[in-house]
Amino acid sequence: MRFNIFNRNKEINKAKTEYNEAYPIDTFINMSGTDAKTPMYQFSYRWISNTTFSSDLLRTIIETITNETFKNGIAIKERYEAKCPKCGREFEEDIPVCPFDFTPTVKPSYDEYIILKNFIDRTNSFDEDILTTMRIVDTDVNMYDNGWLLIVKDYLYDKSNNLIGAIPKEVVRLSPAKMKIIMSNYGMGIDDDVNYLYFCPEHRDEVHKFEKEGTYKCPKCGKQMLRAWYSAKDKSKDIYYSKTEVYHIKKWSYTQGYGVPPLYSIWMKVLTLMKMDRFMLEAYTLQRSPKALLLIRGKLDSFRKAWEWLMQKARENPNMIYPLILEGEEGGSNKRIVDYVQFDLKPEEWQWLEMRKEFREVVGLVYGVQPMFIEGKEGSGLQNEGLMIAATNRTIEHSQEVWNDFLEWLSEKIIGVTSYKLELVPNERENVVRDLDIDLKKTQIATMLYNMGYEIEMYTDNNGRLQYRFKRDVFGKKERVNPEKLENAKITVGEEDEGQTLGKT
Ligand SMILES: [Zn+2]
Ligand SMILES: [Zn+2]
Repeated sequence: MRFNIFNRNKEINKAKTEYNEAYPIDTFINMSGTDAKTPMYQFSYRWISNTTFSSDLLRTIIETITNETFKNGIAIKERYEAKCPKCGREFEEDIPVCPFDFTPTVKPSYDEYIILKNFIDRTNSFDEDILTTMRIVDTDVNMYDNGWLLIVKDYLYDKSNNLIGAIPKEVVRLSPAKMKIIMSNYGMGIDDDVNYLYFCPEHRDEVHKFEKEGTYKCPKCGKQMLRAWYSAKDKSKDIYYSKTEVYHIKKWSYTQGYGVPPLYSIWMKVLTLMKMDRFMLEAYTLQRSPKALLLIRGKLDSFRKAWEWLMQKARENPNMIYPLILEGEEGGSNKRIVDYVQFDLKPEEWQWLEMRKEFREVVGLVYGVQPMFIEGKEGSGLQNEGLMIAATNRTIEHSQEVWNDFLEWLSEKIIGVTSYKLELVPNERENVVRDLDIDLKKTQIATMLYNMGYEIEMYTDNNGRLQYRFKRDVFGKKERVNPEKLENAKITVGEEDEGQTLGKT
């Protein structure tokens, strides 16, 4: 008996595990803890990554977004051409003297350029350069809408153990599943009881609470402590990090605290697509009903026997159409004795293809991409579709903006470089195509206005972009369009109605 119960529990647990791996949990999980809030997701991080990597659609989408965002690499750009050391004004042109206070201007510092160059060329302890780390974290952001970067630093203290500086060493990814934000209704780094949380960079697994903000020293080593803004679960301990050590990236949601995974809104569609694939896969392996049946009418008992025999045969060769012969009943009421039943799977007949297309489009919409399909030969059953993802310019620009915010933070706040900045190189070709498209539309409007009787003046603006100026043509459209009728028009200046009558004759 005991043994049975034990087995039964084991079975239930096994089923539960399988279910949890296949579906998000149904219940709301209320996370506890006074210092840090952990996300309350319907999904586990493991479930999200499993689902993403088992879905051809999701995987292609997030890889396309990451590739397009980082394909042109990082550039080191000057923040200004000239800067006034006295008033701090920055100028886009190279002017030798500040026009406001006549102080000689300075150029961007080449030393700072070298500092940034060395930093982006450097690899971290996982042998990844910063671009590789950013690509890896971008995958996290596209999956969980929570990406975490840690800036590993060396801290410098004076003789009295006061913190006097920090040298950023490397940038590494932190696992989103382990990260927690320390926040309450009172703000970041403050717990629910309005305590300010501090930690020592040398003893990161201990947090100290104070009622006020201030300069506090570590009770163990006496070094100045930092405000704790984030923590990461490490085995049974929490490791604390400061505001200037961790960068939290969100791309898909504008929420306070944690980001919300895009999968949250589309998981049902993604799972349906996957189940459809699985259904087709199973239907096309040997374990399925025969392609078609040839039914010969007879008794029910004999039908059961015949069916078992038929299923066995179908396993051996699913493409063969076997006659299902049943013992005949003399003088039966049904005169029709032979039927042909088609079992073949044709997704188009079930309107699968339309539904799949719509599902994929909605999934794409959430990510700001357009899934396109090159459909296979008609009637091939499985429809060998090729999947292509077109990421819109807006999506990639947004993705680059989010990362440029990080690069700005890194270069200015962390590395402390003020005359140069790090920036992702935009997709120029797409921008050129977009600019041409806008120019074409402007020209179309100008042509329409010209036909309505406006005078058009074309010029290029400071950015070299095509522009038009419009002016009402005093002679109106009709005279210019029909120059041969100019004489008639001259007779009727000021009398529009008559002019039109004359024009028509
Ligand atoms: Zn100045
Ligand atoms: Zn310490």
